[in-house]
Amino acid sequence: MSEWPLEFTLLSKCSKSRARASIVKLPHFSVETPVFMPVGTQGTMKGLTCDQLVNLDCQIILANTYHLGMRPGAELLLKADRLHNFMGWNRALLTDSGGFQMVSLIELSEVSEEGVKFKSPYDNKDILLTPEKSIEIQNAIGADIMMQLDDVVDVKIKGDRVKEAMHRSIRWLDRCIMANQRKQYQNLFPIIQGGLDLQLRTECIKEMVKRNMPGYAIGGLSGGEEKEEFWKVVHHCTGLLPKDKPIYVMGIGYAVDLVVCSALGADMFDCVYPTRTARFGTALHRTGQLHMKAKKFATDFTPIDEKCSCSTCKMYTRSFIHSLIGKEAVACHLLTVHNIRYQMDLMAAVRKNIINDTFESFVQQFMLEMFPEKNYPTWVINALSAVNIFLIS
Ligand SMILES: [Zn+2]
Repeated sequence: MSEWPLEFTLLSKCSKSRARASIVKLPHFSVETPVFMPVGTQGTMKGLTCDQLVNLDCQIILANTYHLGMRPGAELLLKADRLHNFMGWNRALLTDSGGFQMVSLIELSEVSEEGVKFKSPYDNKDILLTPEKSIEIQNAIGADIMMQLDDVVDVKIKGDRVKEAMHRSIRWLDRCIMANQRKQYQNLFPIIQGGLDLQLRTECIKEMVKRNMPGYAIGGLSGGEEKEEFWKVVHHCTGLLPKDKPIYVMGIGYAVDLVVCSALGADMFDCVYPTRTARFGTALHRTGQLHMKAKKFATDFTPIDEKCSCSTCKMYTRSFIHSLIGKEAVACHLLTVHNIRYQMDLMAAVRKNIINDTFESFVQQFMLEMFPEKNYPTWVINALSAVNIFLIS
C-alpha cells in the first residue's frame, strides 16, 4: 500500500515506444492517462459549468492556487468545505503551487531562500509566498494533487542560477512535505528542475525520488526553449523516473507536443492554450488550427469539424461562429467547448491506441494529417525515432 492517496495501475504499454495507458486512482476520481487537464483559473473554466466539463469527459482539471488564494481566499474555502464543494466539482482536481503565476504574470518578483516576494496585483501589497504558505493554501483548497513550490528560472538563463534553483527546489520540496497537514487526503508532486542541463536533471531526480513521492512533474519547460532541447529533457527524465508513478509534463497543450510526450512516456499534461486560443477566435482541428475570423469562413456552412462530437459542431456552422467573433462572448464559449472536446478526443485516441497496441500507426496517421506534405518538424522526427516510432516518408 502506498502511503499516499494515489493508486497507479498500468493497463498497457506500447510495444515500441515508452507510451503507456494507466489508471491513476485519486481521492475524488479515477483518472485515465495519458490525460490532458484543462486549466480553470478561478475554479471555473472560462464560461463553462461543471456539468459541461463532465459532458466533455474532463476527469481532472487544474485550479490556480494563486488566484484562489487571493479571491475567494483560503478562509472562505475552508468555510465552504474546500473547493470541490465550493465549485460543485466532484471529479479530480490539481492545484499549482502559486509560484508559476508570479514568474509569468508579475515582473517584480524576488526569490530568496525564504520564498518568493512579489507585489499583489490586487492591492499592490508585498506578499511573501513560502513553501509553507503555498501548502497551507493548497490544503485549504483540498485538491487531489498539490504541486510543490519550486524555484523557476527563465529557460534563457544558464549557469549557476539554474543549479541554485534546482537545489533550492529540493530544499523547498522538503519544506512542503513538512508543511502538509493532509497527507491522507492530498497528494504532493515534486517538480524536477535543472533547466536544459541533463546532468542537473539527473541529480534532481535522484534526490526527489528518495522522498518516495506519489508522482513526479517535469518543470521548467515550455518557456520558449528550442524544441530539440525540450524533447531531450522529457526523454531523459522519463527514462530515469520510477515506472510505477505518474509523470506530469507541465505546460504542454499543443496536439503535436501531447502526442510526442505521450510516446516519450509522460502521463499528464496541462496548458491554458486550448481555452486561451478560443478567446482569440481559434478552433483546434485535426489539420492544425482554424482562425475563425478569416474571411473564407464567412460563407462556410460546414461545422468546425464534421468528425467532432461536441455540441458546437453538432449545432453551428463555421459561418455562424465567424459572424459572432469579436462581437459576442458566446463565440468564445462555443470555441472553448469545441477546443476542450478536441483535446479530450485526442487523448482518448492516444489511450485507445496504446491499449490496442496500434500506437505507432496512430502516431503516423496523426502526423500525416497535421503535415500532409510530410514536412514534419525535425524535432518531432528525432523525438519519435528515439522511442522507435518512424513517420511515413
Ligand atoms: Zn467540435
